[in-house]
Amino acid sequence: MKKRLIIVGGGAAGIFCAINAARMCEELEVVVIEKTDKLLSKVKISGGGRCNVTHACFSISDLVKKYPRGGNFLKKEF
Ligand SMILES: Cc1cc2nc3c(=O)[nH]c(=O)nc-3n(C[C@H](O)[C@H](O)[C@H](O)COP(=O)(O)OP(=O)(O)OC[C@H]3O[C@@H](n4cnc5c(N)ncnc54)[C@H](O)[C@@H]3O)c2cc1C
Repeated sequence: MKKRLIIVGGGAAGIFCAINAARMCEELEVVVIEKTDKLLSKVKISGGGRCNVTHACFSISDLVKKYPRGGNFLKKEF
């Protein structure tokens, strides 16, 4: 019988958990229960819409492209 994982909350933590659980265990049925009609709503507003959600990107010129409206400013820091 297929096992079901129920995750309460479609925020960053819940969606990260859901994706990884589904990847790690293909026979698992993963269900996310979100009380609002929007998933990842806080992630979308994080950093005023400029939050960097990139990782494992080791080229500075590629990395700065992931920062809308802030790439040139961050280039020197990186
Ligand atoms: C204005 C703002 C700017 C931010 N900027 C940054 C930033 O620049 N960089 C950064 O790293 N972080 C930033 N953060 C923080 C980041 O957004 C949070 O750390 C992250 O969203 C937390 O994720 P979470 O999954 O723990 O919680 P949440 O994102 O709060 O997700 C929880 C989800 O669970 C749902 N839920 C709650 N109770 C129930 C229930 N009983 N049944 C079903 N669903 C339920 C909620 O509706 C929500 O969708 C910012 C946050 C805000 C508000």
